[in-house]
Amino acid sequence: MSKSDWSINSWKSKPVLQDVVYEDQAHLETVLKKLQHLPPMVTPKEVNILLNPMVDDLRQQLKEAALGKRFLLQGGDCAELFDYCSQSPIESKLKVLLQMSLVLIWGARTPVVRIARMAGQYAKPRSKPTEMHEGKEIPSYRGDNVNGFDPSDRKPDPERLLQAYFHSAATLNYVRAILGSGFAADRVFRKDLHKPQTWNLDHVRSGSTRQEYQAIVDRLTDAMDFMQTIGADSGRSLSEVDWYTSHEGLLLDYESSLTREHVVPSTGEKKYYNTGAHFLWIGDRTRQPEGGHVEYMKGIENPVGIKVGPTTNPDDLPIILDAINPTKDIGKVTLITRYGAGNVEKLLPAHIEAVRKSGHIVVWVCDPMHGNTKSATGGIKTRHFADIVEELTSSFKVHESVGSKLNGVHFELTGDSVTVAAPECVGGSMELKDSDLSTNYQTYCDPRLNYEQSLDVAFLIAQYYEK
Ligand code: PEP
Ligand code: MN
Repeated sequence: MSKSDWSINSWKSKPVLQDVVYEDQAHLETVLKKLQHLPPMVTPKEVNILLNPMVDDLRQQLKEAALGKRFLLQGGDCAELFDYCSQSPIESKLKVLLQMSLVLIWGARTPVVRIARMAGQYAKPRSKPTEMHEGKEIPSYRGDNVNGFDPSDRKPDPERLLQAYFHSAATLNYVRAILGSGFAADRVFRKDLHKPQTWNLDHVRSGSTRQEYQAIVDRLTDAMDFMQTIGADSGRSLSEVDWYTSHEGLLLDYESSLTREHVVPSTGEKKYYNTGAHFLWIGDRTRQPEGGHVEYMKGIENPVGIKVGPTTNPDDLPIILDAINPTKDIGKVTLITRYGAGNVEKLLPAHIEAVRKSGHIVVWVCDPMHGNTKSATGGIKTRHFADIVEELTSSFKVHESVGSKLNGVHFELTGDSVTVAAPECVGGSMELKDSDLSTNYQTYCDPRLNYEQSLDVAFLIAQYYEK
């Protein structure tokens, strides 16, 4: 099917993996009609010119990232819960991503484009449609926009799609409120963000690591003082920041209901935008070139991410890239690699080569989380900080060794400090161990970095650039 055959619903003629089957189709139709009626969460124009009209558009920023002039930081929850739509979790995620981006800007000496897995990251692909609970086979939890985490609430309910819209809109509204007013941002973040010297590094167990981090903080503080002295921070650079939202575009009924036609005033050309998020990605389980998810993404103007894993056939990459981006726009597609530590050297070079040969220029991003999920004692899912760092380091190195460049990173993180939330990943500068994993931490989905571990990775990347 060529791009001219594309329509908002052309994905329905393709195989759709991870599809949700609703018992009550009439109810689903009513909900989808309502979603089509509700206002866009982001306007088509905003996909290009986001929260701050002064910033370059996201497509432009990603183009710069693809050309190595900008670094992409994407992060947030694995599975956002409706319950996270509340002041404190939203503020913590903003805070940690802003702090990380500050360290990265300083370390990589390039501007950072920030994309949050937030305001819509509800749907989850699952390896198995069912799971065992107290000796009974029950449907798996598919994310808050499909069914409930509680084992008694696993029947897909179309009403949850509407709930997803309203929770996304409320989350985005508060993000806009904080960031749209430099004053509010100052109130919430002044101490922590603008004064790196107040960042508490007490959690860093090793004395030498603490010294190294402290040295970065001192130099960052110095740089910010200097900017203040010469008046370079009086503009929007520190108090107002651009911020983009993203989620996995998994539930195509939902995504297509929020897809709107936009007529370009100057040319009369019709374009289509997903107005539920600025950036959407296709997961590792749904990126088949002939599948419904690739078909849907072909028609939208939003930048698109594609997860690339150990099972990605290098020959498929040019096919997917040509389908989604036939005009080879630089940075339109972000390839998010997630192989698992130890697999990067083996798998990444062939993927880089396949893309290079295709003539596409993509944003290369490392997701060091999804290839590194393990079972800890007691069967709890965890990730080892050392594996996360190893995958990151190998990705930087492999890109460099073949004359390519890693353009960004993708993390699952909570923003909550270890004093607030039970640890989910082990290791890091706090030297958390398996035994620190609380047995009552509920893996709604995948284990996330806590606040301290998130800052750790930012410091480590900054150190990588120093060397
Ligand atoms: C995710 O990003 O939460 C996810 C499920 O990733 P992947 O598709 O890479 O497995
Ligand atoms: Mn995940």
